[in-house]
Amino acid sequence: TEFARLDAQIEAAEAAEEAALAQPVLAVVGRPNVGKSTLVNRIIGRREAVVQDVPGVTRDRVAYDAYWGGRKFTLVDTGGWEPDATGLQASVAAQAELAMQTADAILLVIDASVGATATDEAASKVLRRSKKPVLLVANKVDDDRLLADTASLWSLGLGEPHPVSALHGRSSGDLLDAILKTLPEAPREGVAATSGPRRVALVGKPNVGKSSLLNKLSGEERSVVDSVAGTTVDPVDSLVELDGETWRFVDTAGLRKRVNFAAGAEYYASLRTKTAIDAAEVAIVLLDAAEPISEQDLRVLTMVVEAGRACVLAFNKWDLVDEDRRHAMVRELERGLVRVPWAEKVNVSALTGRSVRKIAPALRTALASWDKRVPTGQLNAWLSDLIAATPPPVRGGKQPKVLFATQAGIRPPTLVLFTTGFLEAGYRRFIERKFREKFGFEGSPVRVNVRVRE
Ligand code: GDP
Ligand code: GDP
Repeated sequence: TEFARLDAQIEAAEAAEEAALAQPVLAVVGRPNVGKSTLVNRIIGRREAVVQDVPGVTRDRVAYDAYWGGRKFTLVDTGGWEPDATGLQASVAAQAELAMQTADAILLVIDASVGATATDEAASKVLRRSKKPVLLVANKVDDDRLLADTASLWSLGLGEPHPVSALHGRSSGDLLDAILKTLPEAPREGVAATSGPRRVALVGKPNVGKSSLLNKLSGEERSVVDSVAGTTVDPVDSLVELDGETWRFVDTAGLRKRVNFAAGAEYYASLRTKTAIDAAEVAIVLLDAAEPISEQDLRVLTMVVEAGRACVLAFNKWDLVDEDRRHAMVRELERGLVRVPWAEKVNVSALTGRSVRKIAPALRTALASWDKRVPTGQLNAWLSDLIAATPPPVRGGKQPKVLFATQAGIRPPTLVLFTTGFLEAGYRRFIERKFREKFGFEGSPVRVNVRVRE
């Protein structure tokens, strides 16, 4: 019975993990100042998506986890960017276009106190072509006076307008119910699927050499294949043959075509990075070996770790690295890469082709770790020795006991420790470090969760 209960807990953990993989994406689009950020705040229920009053400020966080009615989804706020020279209308249309490519469902927000503007109409025109569900949100309906006016928004051709007040929360529950109905139940294609070529995200700050490396890897376009027998390929991905194996480099369309948005380029780059990482199983994080590790590099790394994806660090432009730079790097890496001491490093040059052939084996190692499961028996034999030698620190006069552990999940490997008390973060990190020393897991994040048994 005790074991049945543990089994049930493990099953629940596994189900939660699968749900996380299958998490659908909802994009919020609309003109500036219609209340997108306010609505996002309302939905996620916290003040994380800070409402910016400064025009043109790029928000570095663009996607949030949201929960409603027992469902988890990713909410993407396409807010923090400024319309470019081509004008507001084109920018909002481009934003809607991007949402159609990246999201499973779209919320178009209109300011009901203003009514439908030409820009709203332009965005609607784009979204009417959408194969994904689109919900029309009439925001700023703070009281009944505006309610009648919202009927005029039927003219946008997107179906029934949903009147809400994001600011006061009016009808936002109804809106969320309507949203949930539109979100797909089944796993999103491209995230959880494990058949077909393995999925790789090639990410890194602008100008680090992503396009150059992609071209080099695919032999200057030569071996890029657009279709493989029995596989349908999303046009935004590239199939690349490396080391006798076909790999799917996800979301590379922007790299190849060098699409650049004059304004909000950083915002789009960050959104694209997040999208690519989420769609991939393993990320190649490209760093510029000739330059110190930057905040932007660390943000990309953090995204990979938080998404729980396997990871290979590729130091590009190695042809520019001299003796002095090499010395400087040693300490820099120690400090800069504390979060990913487990990631394999390869030194490459997209320009000369140096060592690019080491990338495929590193990807394989990382994925093997990401897929690996340590049998419960082996895990507990090791763990009981470890804990006997180094017991968890006493807290509040009590000695927490680790009763049992299991590797509840893979992709990423996830340990669950069943304990009689709280385990400090330091001790969890100690367990993770020893676990890696014993069982490997190079190239993959490892999660350590604790279930305290009453
Ligand atoms: P965004 O640019 O679309 O992200 O818009 P914001 O969320 O930044 O909101 C723009 C302004 O509209 C802010 O001053 C908000 O407080 C205000 N606002 C947002 N939602 C509502 C609402 O439901 N009613 C009213 N009266 N004001 C709102
Ligand atoms: P992306 O913005 O990350 O796609 O970067 P690009 O591939 O466009 O590269 C940016 C610049 O760096 C270009 O001028 C490239 O020629 C240069 N570059 C890329 N890889 C290397 C390399 O390995 N060595 C050197 N010296 N330059 C490189």
